[in-house]
Amino acid sequence: MCNVGMILGDEFKKYSFPDSPLANERLEAFQQMLEKEGIFKKGRVKIVGPVLTSDEILLLFHTKEHVDFVKKASEQGFGYLDYGDAPVCFGLRGYGETPAFKGIFEAASYLVGSTILGLDMLMRKEFDHTFNPIGGTHHARRTRSEGLCVFNDAAIAIIYAKKTYGLKRILYVDIDAHHGNGVFYDLNNDPAVYIADIHEDGRFLYPGTGFSTETGSGEAVGTKMNLPLAPKSGDKEFKEAFTKVEKFAYKIKPELIIFQCGADGLKNDPHAHLQYTEEAHRYATKKLHKISHELCDGRILALGGGGYNPDNVARAWLEVIKGLID
Ligand SMILES: [Zn+2]
Ligand SMILES: [Zn+2]
Repeated sequence: MCNVGMILGDEFKKYSFPDSPLANERLEAFQQMLEKEGIFKKGRVKIVGPVLTSDEILLLFHTKEHVDFVKKASEQGFGYLDYGDAPVCFGLRGYGETPAFKGIFEAASYLVGSTILGLDMLMRKEFDHTFNPIGGTHHARRTRSEGLCVFNDAAIAIIYAKKTYGLKRILYVDIDAHHGNGVFYDLNNDPAVYIADIHEDGRFLYPGTGFSTETGSGEAVGTKMNLPLAPKSGDKEFKEAFTKVEKFAYKIKPELIIFQCGADGLKNDPHAHLQYTEEAHRYATKKLHKISHELCDGRILALGGGGYNPDNVARAWLEVIKGLID
């Protein structure tokens, strides 16, 4: 039986794009589900308030130009953070675009600060495991925002873990329906960063990347693994792919696992075409939980990621929480 430090608070409501699929409804559905299931009464999930991050931490991954650009756009409150030039995917212009709004810098700063807090609490052993439900903005690139991801908290956390705690083998597991292109390509040549990413085949879904032939570059060849699945793949296909993630984990023996548990691979998500049920999240969390205790002292930092059907998000993330406290 383990405990989980979950970062949550009203500050997270600021990270909500007007007229976009990434609205607050999903977070509210998740909170209601936790109450309904009596998760808090069991006393093993403790809420910790969000915190802001610093420029110093943002600059571990992002360029100063990008950080300054977001600050300026945040003051202005209009325009696009990705310069309106996000990849055009399947003729859908603007699919990966990220509009600015007033206060977006502060909103994104809470998102990143909370992921770093989750990592620090994990490393200081204040909790067995930690979870930032609004974290996992895996599309943001070093030089720009993309796909409603202003800054890339996962990539920042990976670099922070290397610098602050001297970690040499970090495993990033991403089960979001979309490929985690920001983490993958901007850390592609870093041999300390092991990536296993299960997603819908890029020929059918934004961002159109993440093919199985891509395994890292330079001295990092072999440290990355893409596991694209055909549209309509379900729990069976997911589990088959996940056995490869398990083997990969045992082979590399990570010192830390960062788990992006996006829920947009569940059936009836409006922005993807996979057909998992919450069983996928139950299965993946159970396996990673076991691996973390066998290999890295239980160090799992979970990040919510995508998911645009609030009921699905609530059920999937409930399984993540249950899997971590069990
Ligand atoms: Zn545990
Ligand atoms: Zn996604």
